[in-house]
Amino acid sequence: MQTQVDLLIVGGGIQGAGIARDAAGRGLSVALYEQDDITGGTSSASSKLIHGGLRYLETGEFRLVHDSLSERQTLLRIAPHLMQPLRFVIPHTPQLRPAWMIRLGLMFYDLLGGHQTLPSSQTVDLATSVYGEALQASYSKGFIYSDVQTDDARLVIHNLRDATERGAKVFTHMRLISAHREGAAWHARLENTQTNRQTTVVARALVNAAGTGVAALRDQLHPSEQYLGIRWVKGSHIVIPRLYPGKHAYTLQNTDRRIIFLIPWEQNYTLIGTTDIEISDASTPPKVTSEEVTYLCEAVNHYSKKPVQASDVLWQFCGTRALFDEGGQNDNRSSNASQITRDYHLQCDSLTGQAPLLSIFGGKLTTYRRVAEQALEKLTPWFPASGQPWTARAALPGGDCPLAETIGHLHASHPNLPPAWLEQLARRHGSRALALLADVRETKDLGLDFGGGLYEIEVAHFMAHEWAQEADDILWRRTKTGLHMMPEQRARFADWLASRGSR
Ligand SMILES: Cc1cc2nc3c(=O)[nH]c(=O)nc-3n(C[C@H](O)[C@H](O)[C@H](O)COP(=O)(O)OP(=O)(O)OC[C@H]3O[C@@H](n4cnc5c(N)ncnc54)[C@H](O)[C@@H]3O)c2cc1C
Repeated sequence: MQTQVDLLIVGGGIQGAGIARDAAGRGLSVALYEQDDITGGTSSASSKLIHGGLRYLETGEFRLVHDSLSERQTLLRIAPHLMQPLRFVIPHTPQLRPAWMIRLGLMFYDLLGGHQTLPSSQTVDLATSVYGEALQASYSKGFIYSDVQTDDARLVIHNLRDATERGAKVFTHMRLISAHREGAAWHARLENTQTNRQTTVVARALVNAAGTGVAALRDQLHPSEQYLGIRWVKGSHIVIPRLYPGKHAYTLQNTDRRIIFLIPWEQNYTLIGTTDIEISDASTPPKVTSEEVTYLCEAVNHYSKKPVQASDVLWQFCGTRALFDEGGQNDNRSSNASQITRDYHLQCDSLTGQAPLLSIFGGKLTTYRRVAEQALEKLTPWFPASGQPWTARAALPGGDCPLAETIGHLHASHPNLPPAWLEQLARRHGSRALALLADVRETKDLGLDFGGGLYEIEVAHFMAHEWAQEADDILWRRTKTGLHMMPEQRARFADWLASRGSR
């Protein structure tokens, strides 16, 4: 069987998802293939921040900060259900960075953001403010600035849902194994990783959004003299019971000058991350090591009144950054993983009359929409009739209504359901939560209760509309309900899902 499309996209992380949405909305026929679960790669293992990246000011990446802050504002508008504004507190540590430098940096951060709806930065007296309550008494001075917390996995899923509603096709557990050009078309072989069945897709353009595999895939499909590489930098996070009350986060300067975030997460938890460790092999999923856990605990313990230790860790996760290697193989390479650029590079390879290969090197979650716009711009010569940029103005599914309003509607329409659960549902689905509950009056209408806030009705939705197949897809990516469950509940859910599948 042979499928024909305009655009074949390899990779169901945020970059592939953003490009699929943008292209489908411009009228192109799109097929996206992910070898694993959607968002099973780095895009569900980030710090979950939509941010300008305050620390990139130190490395002089002003354009990246400016673009990221402008994207932060756009995402607040088009996906309010997935965006949670947060105040970040930086306790002042004079021996690491002088106060004037941080104040100047924050002023610049506010300025680069242009017109923003989030409160601007300020200094704070930690001795008298609630922001100082979680900190050791020696921290008396601090700074506050704004950024945004998101749900990275759901951001990918909402982009893909919108893409499919605009005609794109999304296939999971399908790996691109080879592709060759025949004039103006790519002929690609894809293999189902569960059944080993192969299929051929013919496409007018191929987008390589393979994350950590981007450079290898480009080398495979378009061998070239021009060196374009990536460096892999592992980053780990730990999750502990909530360390302090309040909705603010902390940006902690570690003694090695790196930044560690302390972020309130999933109501009852604190997320701590991240490490930055360059690795030489990204072919297997990375793992959090005990050294990394110790490193993160020690960084927090320089500041926190309440000490954190490894035994507090309830969950941990790890991802690999695929960072664009600007320096090439020999010159200018920074030996410090934190100094490698977080900016992106789009490489379009083709010869006259040939189908293009567009590879996405690097890039952050925050800038994915802009990457997609630039990707489509690069492909315009092959698709001159495709539409204009549109994604900055169109809400993602469920994002057509402010979150507070959606929560208000849900509380009013479902007075018999737990209010806190309705709020979680609104954060996951936005205004579409109302349709999900259209036939529900009381808790028994939600079907089986798996614990942790997960009910059968939502599981059915994830399987029918969000490509979920396995327990982990639902417990850790479509939701974080796995965190709120006991191990026995997770095992029971996995058994139930497996038996449902076999039926
Ligand atoms: C620890 C850490 C913290 C971070 N924090 C932030 C943050 O707070 N804010 C921010 O903006 N950014 C952050 N980032 C960066 C951000 O997470 C990544 O830049 C982004 O998720 C990369 O998305 P991607 O689509 O390129 O890659 P991925 O999400 O890895 O997606 C690539 C996909 O391609 C698939 N694939 C590969 N080869 C094939 C093939 N042959 N066939 C089919 N499928 C294939 C993979 O399975 C994978 O799912 C962080 C990154 C890390 C590691």
